[in-house]
Amino acid sequence: MRNYTATAKAVNPRRTVPQTQPLVGREAEMVKNNAGGFVFPVSIWTSLDRYLILGAEGPTYYVSAQKLSLENAQNVIKCIEADGVRVVNRIVEISDAGRAPKNDPALFALALVMTFGDADAKAAAFEALPLVARIGTHLLHLAAYVDTMRGWGRGIRNAFGNWYLTQKSDKLAMNLVKYANRDGWTHRDVLRLAHPKAVGATQQLLGYVTDKPYNFRGTEIAGFMNAVAQIKTLTPAEEKLAAKLITDYELPREVIPTELLNSKRVWEALLPHMGITALVRNLATLTRIGVIENGSQGLADVLEKLRNEEAVRKSRFHPIQALAALLTYKAGHGARGTNTWTPVIKLVDELDSLFYRSFGNVVPTGKRILYGLDISGSMDGGEVAGVPGLTPRVAAGALAMLAAQTEQDAEYLGFTASGLGWRYNTSASEDVDSAVTAIDISKKHRLDTVCHMMDALPMGRTDCAVPALWATKHNRKFDAFVIVTDNECYAGAVHPAVALQQYRNKSGIPAKMVAVALVAGQFDIGDPNDAGSLSVVGFDTAAPNVISDFIRGE
Ligand code: CA
Repeated sequence: MRNYTATAKAVNPRRTVPQTQPLVGREAEMVKNNAGGFVFPVSIWTSLDRYLILGAEGPTYYVSAQKLSLENAQNVIKCIEADGVRVVNRIVEISDAGRAPKNDPALFALALVMTFGDADAKAAAFEALPLVARIGTHLLHLAAYVDTMRGWGRGIRNAFGNWYLTQKSDKLAMNLVKYANRDGWTHRDVLRLAHPKAVGATQQLLGYVTDKPYNFRGTEIAGFMNAVAQIKTLTPAEEKLAAKLITDYELPREVIPTELLNSKRVWEALLPHMGITALVRNLATLTRIGVIENGSQGLADVLEKLRNEEAVRKSRFHPIQALAALLTYKAGHGARGTNTWTPVIKLVDELDSLFYRSFGNVVPTGKRILYGLDISGSMDGGEVAGVPGLTPRVAAGALAMLAAQTEQDAEYLGFTASGLGWRYNTSASEDVDSAVTAIDISKKHRLDTVCHMMDALPMGRTDCAVPALWATKHNRKFDAFVIVTDNECYAGAVHPAVALQQYRNKSGIPAKMVAVALVAGQFDIGDPNDAGSLSVVGFDTAAPNVISDFIRGE
């Protein structure tokens, strides 16, 4: 009798299953995550999106960078085998729209298609090359990846050769002088393999790069190329002439000799034609040199540039760049501590605002939303998108701040796992209060303050069911739960998908759940069969509106 009862309990489809076991009847669908919890796998295509947006350069709490990178490359290859042209389209879509903080995953994925794709996929990849490798440094990265994996056949030679031949000579000149070498590759290396046949100014430029005879006289780039040559000969005593050359020919910082880069005059000349990304990267230097200070023309010019919505959008400026700049600039010293500057607060506030604005216009949902931020130990490991100090939990705080700017009726809760956990066979909601930390997020706070606060929160084990369990226990009304996590949950008495269902049953609200992934990988806490569950990629600039549409029911 006792045996049968025990067996009945084990196969009971309504049995409460801890996260360390798969749900009854769904064993074949679920996979074990790196923390030992059972979760749902995302499709290879969702996994591709996560990789293209979040990359896999740094280690996570559970997985080394090397392993994470390899797993993601293997997933891209699976996608290429399923539909290589679709992979190329996705790469172009995400890269060209500036949805990812870094372009390297897109370049690497493109190199994988060039290597593992069928004839159609390779043709599509060759055609897409200039859309993904938009500047000289991208092309050199791509050359390095391709060269490691395959030979230089005719298709690849043409694709790389066309990159040089199809650009206008002034743009090509800029690309060649600005990005001379990357990853041990120079344009000379690429041109010697691709050897495209050029005419006119382009022919002279390719001669210049490959140490063949060249002559810019009479071409439209003569003035620019002469200025590039001349500025390299100038000393700090000739800063006035240097500044004039920079202004007249819009010379980039990359061609200026190091000794001249301590000159305030030189930086003042660079500022007007500096792009948003370069500007944001050089704010500390501009401040240290004295171009940016309270009341200066330099500060006024910088603020005006950062407020130019059109320019910010066109430059594919990514919010993570604003966040990284804010955290570094506010600190007042570089990573190695050798350079110091006094941050100008007006500029700090502008970077704060730039972070939100660079996500584009997010439509408010007007719904009641509980933001559950995973603050467990694993969220404190690794770097999101390779930004130093940007751990997943700091990043989660930044995403919650974006919501606070948009949503009127949202609450924010940090969660770990309850003190007792599944081992003690507690009923699910008992002790759930010990697993939550109220997080003081409001639109009145500045982003860096919240990031530092997130960094200092206590840690614990991970139970992504906690936000729904907490809302159930306290009879709180929410239309949606947004869970920001690395999907490495394991320490709960019930699965998140089950906790959500229990919440819906008890509250009578058809609450939705959005899982925001902050680590590239194949895991998901949401049930793929539940139309009320959605998985998105954190820091995808398109994600905030996807979440908003989903919660509003569109
Ligand atoms: Ca965790």
